[in-house]
Amino acid sequence: MRLNHWQRRTVGDCLRRCMCIGLCIALAFALVACKRTTPAPAEASPVAAEPTPTPQATPLAEQGFAIVVDQLPAVVCATQEDAQWVLDSLLAAHAIEGAQTSFKQQVAIAPAPGPFVSKEDALHLLQTGGTRAYLVQEDDTVATITQSFSISEDALQTINGDVAIQPGATIQVELPASLVTVVTVQAVTEEQAISFQTQKVNDSSLTKGKTSVKQKGVKGLKRRTVTVTYEDGQEVGRTPTDWQVVREPVKQIVLVGTKATPTPKPTSKPVTDTSAPSFRWPVTSRRITSVFGEGRGSSRKHAGIDIGDAKGNPVVAAAAGKVTRVRNDPDGYGLYLDIDHGNGWTTRYAHNSKILVSVGQTVTQGQKIALVGSTGASSGPHLHFEIQKNGVAKNPLSYLP
Ligand SMILES: [Zn+2]
Repeated sequence: MRLNHWQRRTVGDCLRRCMCIGLCIALAFALVACKRTTPAPAEASPVAAEPTPTPQATPLAEQGFAIVVDQLPAVVCATQEDAQWVLDSLLAAHAIEGAQTSFKQQVAIAPAPGPFVSKEDALHLLQTGGTRAYLVQEDDTVATITQSFSISEDALQTINGDVAIQPGATIQVELPASLVTVVTVQAVTEEQAISFQTQKVNDSSLTKGKTSVKQKGVKGLKRRTVTVTYEDGQEVGRTPTDWQVVREPVKQIVLVGTKATPTPKPTSKPVTDTSAPSFRWPVTSRRITSVFGEGRGSSRKHAGIDIGDAKGNPVVAAAAGKVTRVRNDPDGYGLYLDIDHGNGWTTRYAHNSKILVSVGQTVTQGQKIALVGSTGASSGPHLHFEIQKNGVAKNPLSYLP
């Protein structure tokens, strides 16, 4: 301590010391005592200082551990452990799981003389600021103190009142509020869906105007890390990394029909009249022995269809209606009947072996009305079946299911 002191003396002081040594070798111990007095200009005369050693020797300050913030020994704890506890507590106050915490300022622990404060008080002082005791060092001046603690000379004097700011004196210094700032850096993962594209592909096998999904689209996924920075718990910055694609989207492929809609071919079949009742087959047989419109001799055309079937098999009403005619025409239809289905629609059943209904009778669809035969102009057992609309013969095959 003393040696340091010597080394830190100014040139003028050293010269003065040397003179003292030169002049008063015998009073070396007194000289040491002289050195301990303040370097005040009034004390310039070495002679005056030599005879009386300063009565109050500066008490040797106990060594403690200061928390130094940006070169400023902010608080002094008794032990290094206490100082470390204070720093750990400051960081813990803003700890987030998985995040890193550090101080924004340059913070260190360094040996320093007291007076000490308890670790709890030290923590409070660093967080909120306030005054603390400071032992004026032997090389301290008002200027060095005001500079170290960023305090004006007036303020320093105000806080300390009548206390003389001189080495060995314990004075009060003011610490600014929240001397340290805790920086917390957290990495947050963000995810976002990537929408898929839809590709349209022409397909000549698909009718124009129609579409079909050939491949279903699947959304992709991208991810990035955002570094979030907090200062004393307040967010101050966000820095995202570039997006990384975790899963590529799968594009949707849609087939678009290009095949021209076939124009209905003109057909010999008459266009089905939608007003027609829903007819059913009048016999169970589907054996067509003569179609509609076939030539019959010179002028007549076949007004219905012939369905070959065994004699005696049932003939049923093709649709519900009312029996309007039951006749025997030995030279033509043989035993036949007509049913009126309404809206101008009628059916005829001819060449029967027997008729089971009578004129005026209401029949339901599928009701047995006659038995297959070969009466009239017929070469074998069959049913001659006609469908007419307003007396005009229609092709029954256009209306049967
Ligand atoms: Zn016929």
